[in-house]
Amino acid sequence: MSLRYDLLIRNALVIDGTRRPRFAGDIGVRDARIADIGLLAHARGAVEIDAHGKIAAPGFIDAHTHDDRLLGSDPAMTPKVSQGVTSVIIGNCGISLAPLVSASPPAPLDLIDDGGAFRFADFASFLEELESRPAATNVAALVGHTTLRVASMSRLERAATPAETKRMQALARAALAAGAIGLSTGTYYPPAAHATTEEIIAVARPLKDYGGRYVTHMRHEDDRIAEAMEETFRIGREVGVPVVISHHKVVGARNHGRSVETLALLARAGKRQSVCLDCYPYTASSTVLRADRIALSSRILITWSRPHPECAGMELAQAAERLGLSQEDAVSRLSPAGAIYFSMDEADVQRILQFDETMIGSDGLPHDQKPHPRLWGTFARVLGHYCRDLGLFPLETAIYKMTGLTARNFGLKERGLLLPGCWADITIFDAGEIGDAASFDKPAKLARGIDSVIVNGIVVWREGCSTGTRPGRLLRAGAQRGKEN
Ligand SMILES: [Zn+2]
Repeated sequence: MSLRYDLLIRNALVIDGTRRPRFAGDIGVRDARIADIGLLAHARGAVEIDAHGKIAAPGFIDAHTHDDRLLGSDPAMTPKVSQGVTSVIIGNCGISLAPLVSASPPAPLDLIDDGGAFRFADFASFLEELESRPAATNVAALVGHTTLRVASMSRLERAATPAETKRMQALARAALAAGAIGLSTGTYYPPAAHATTEEIIAVARPLKDYGGRYVTHMRHEDDRIAEAMEETFRIGREVGVPVVISHHKVVGARNHGRSVETLALLARAGKRQSVCLDCYPYTASSTVLRADRIALSSRILITWSRPHPECAGMELAQAAERLGLSQEDAVSRLSPAGAIYFSMDEADVQRILQFDETMIGSDGLPHDQKPHPRLWGTFARVLGHYCRDLGLFPLETAIYKMTGLTARNFGLKERGLLLPGCWADITIFDAGEIGDAASFDKPAKLARGIDSVIVNGIVVWREGCSTGTRPGRLLRAGAQRGKEN
């Protein structure tokens, strides 16, 4: 009699997500989990995949996404699944879809709105919706501080009053009790930029009771970045929780090279508290269109504009010329709008990617008309361009930065590793072929070299196509240490 599995992957080179060297083996999957890894030549699988000459790795976890609405509007999650991503962290940069009911939320919440997306009065009902209508990928959710502000404050362009802060704290506690894995902030953006450090500490207070994380798009990523990092570390220490610095970067030519300093600050902070970071593999950033970014960027591309959709894809300079305006005035005419900013230094990006605690996160903006290519290219670009072609780190390290490390940092239990007993999220790819095809000109291009993607034991992507399955699950915080009080 031979062993039987639901899914059997034969002849793979297994990279398990721990940073251990690869080894040859077969993988047997039963009941959505990895049952055995080893030599399973006599076993049979209801579904079998021959992975000869290919790598089998844990499915990639996108540490930083704005896929909150995409999970419902395109449950195939094609931009992510096509590059091997099997789980996404949503609710970043202070922006979460719940708890808020609003037909026209202010920027930057409009980055994920379509006029009807903010319709969940409480976080529990949002999570229920995610669970009852699964997507192709798993999802773990952060609750956003900016969303809490909009839900709680009578006027946004100021610090919160004690009563408003109390209300936000209660909403944060309810979100964590319902299953949010942390709180995100985006104090870089108005109106959240008006929040004081004390306001954030108070709102974040419940994190400790639920084993949650403090995740932040910091106040500054340019001249005042060191100060913003100290604020972030202080919040983590005072609340007593791990800190995640989102899409770490150093912006503006006069700050190029300063990742030497910021990574030293991170390493030093890491000796007394838990800190980590994520990064995307590009020297251009993307967010809402802002005039104060003009001086810091060598080039700006419009990604969307509500009043002037015909300008998406154009350079800001070109759009300004067409409108007969200065670039500053064109920004107001085009807004609300989004943009790509070429403002980073390649050496900084490489140094940050190489840092031990750096996870990979795409920060892709799935609803932009002409999005930054990071949406479709991030993971394949790290594996192809940075790992294989430039030799920045071994493949085992690259995989670790998108799997085991990320699962550990976000407390996602039994994910991110290819070990017996873990959930069967698996990406099979060709290490010689893998690469990003998405460019600033043509951002919606499938990555090369992905063979198969498996989520909870079910094949969701095979040979360049979605299989139409939706086996994704809602991932809650690993330790449900919630206390009611
Ligand atoms: Zn951000």
